[in-house]
Amino acid sequence: MSEPFFWWNEDQKAFAKKVEHFADDLFEEAEYYFWKQKFPWPLIKRVAQEGYFGAGIPKKYGGLELGATGSCIVAEQFGRLYAVGHVFVVSMLAGLEQILRYASDEQKEKWIPQFAKGERLGAVCITEPYAGSDAANVMTTAVKDGDEWVINGKKRYITGAGVSDRYFIYAKTSDDPGLRKQYGHITSFIIEKGAPGFHLERISPLVGFDNVPNGYLSFEDVRIPDENRIGPVGKGWNVMMAGLNFERLIAGAVFIGTLLDVTKVLFYYTQRRIQFNKTTNQFPGIQNEIADIIAKYRMGRLFAYNCAKQLDDGLEPMIDASVAKWVISEYIREAATKAVQVMGGDGLTRFYPMERLVREGKIGEIVAGTNEIQRMIVYRFSSMLPAYNAPMRLRWNDEVNAPIISKKESRFKGLELNEENVLKVIAHDYKVNPGLYMTIDDVREDIGSGRSAVKKILESLEEQKLIAAHRDRSGKMVLVKASYKGLKKAFPREYYQWYPDWYDDIDKF
Ligand SMILES: Cc1cc2nc3c(=O)[nH]c(=O)nc-3n(C[C@H](O)[C@H](O)[C@H](O)COP(=O)(O)OP(=O)(O)OC[C@H]3O[C@@H](n4cnc5c(N)ncnc54)[C@H](O)[C@@H]3O)c2cc1C
Repeated sequence: MSEPFFWWNEDQKAFAKKVEHFADDLFEEAEYYFWKQKFPWPLIKRVAQEGYFGAGIPKKYGGLELGATGSCIVAEQFGRLYAVGHVFVVSMLAGLEQILRYASDEQKEKWIPQFAKGERLGAVCITEPYAGSDAANVMTTAVKDGDEWVINGKKRYITGAGVSDRYFIYAKTSDDPGLRKQYGHITSFIIEKGAPGFHLERISPLVGFDNVPNGYLSFEDVRIPDENRIGPVGKGWNVMMAGLNFERLIAGAVFIGTLLDVTKVLFYYTQRRIQFNKTTNQFPGIQNEIADIIAKYRMGRLFAYNCAKQLDDGLEPMIDASVAKWVISEYIREAATKAVQVMGGDGLTRFYPMERLVREGKIGEIVAGTNEIQRMIVYRFSSMLPAYNAPMRLRWNDEVNAPIISKKESRFKGLELNEENVLKVIAHDYKVNPGLYMTIDDVREDIGSGRSAVKKILESLEEQKLIAAHRDRSGKMVLVKASYKGLKKAFPREYYQWYPDWYDDIDKF
């Protein structure tokens, strides 16, 4: 039984129980479709009948209005039903947030109840043969012709290709390099199955997703009315970004439930497998591996629902959504690999769910933006946040005779601004941070003077080769350090020497 979180409201708790029971009931049948490698239409229909496709959709459009937490609960449970989970996830992601935020009222009335009903599946179509992680590089074009748009191009790796009726696509609507630079060259559209010129080009066999069709689509002069355009022309990139946090969260959450199933199998199995006259659950190594899997399950789940709560509170957890997608998929692959190891050869057979989860975890590391791209996002956004970039200085503390992080002002602050003192500031920094350059602001702050006056002195010191400067691409001086010549001029050799107390005098020179 999955545990509820203390911050869930009563509706969410009751919903989680109901969905879990529902998934338990469908579990065996889902295995049947997995083994037969058949798309589980009857199960999808049952999910739709129960209204689960509407978990996160507002009630006025026929949904259950349970927010990102509700969607996460459904994803967690339906992931256990293999294809059902993956198709549920993409169908829910196929433009829902984008339509809710960017579509006109009439468009919302037309499309969102379809999402909620789940009778017609949806697919999201960003990736192309030549545009993967670099999603802005889409080459599929949309050209306006009267009241219609003419679409030409290809999409690939589309989950639910063929079985879906509604395809949320992103196409290029301008070749203007200026617009391209500002990401103003893409527009989003909905194309429905059956549109003349719209074809399923290929279904790709994959390492996992055994009964989930994944394929290529081709568009040859496909004509769609302007009312199928979602959001303004040239705003497709913003439309795409609109739902990304939600999408990344759900893309991670869909793998969590299966990890609990795998853990249950491990307890069952290791209590019944005897080697060296002991059940294998008595070996500390096996216990450690299972404990590790449980920790990963709990941490991944906690993180996912924390992220869902932030979304439900109206926040945009950009960093946490990327962390959720990346960390959960990594946990899944690592935990599934451990689960295989715990069961030895049996873990490698298809008769237990471990091998499946190893494959799923690998897919998880690539779909919805690779984990390298998630890391890039986490780094880039964090580098802009004050929380990670608080002003910080190390100062030499004479009492302990060591550099320590300090709020104190520099010992040089207030000295006359001249070359000698600025050089001292920079040379002293060699004693504090021997391998680092100083920013111009570090120098300015330490001597306590204006930028331009300090810069002039730095240029002169550089000319005399007393300091070395690092310049940005435009040639602007951004970082400085003392040269060996500058260090020698600023202070005597002893100033830089430092030995621990235990170091023998005899060995000092
Ligand atoms: C099972 C499955 C289902 C999918 N479903 C859908 C779907 O429904 N709809 C859809 O539109 N797409 C879908 N995709 C596509 C998926 O989003 C892309 O595969 C993914 O974004 C990566 O693109 P790519 O495969 O072209 O790899 P590439 O972008 O070519 O990347 C190759 C490698 O280079 C690395 N890399 C690329 N750029 C950088 C960089 N700047 N810094 C560091 N490393 C980098 C990547 O991390 C990766 O390791 C699906 C993919 C799979 C496998």
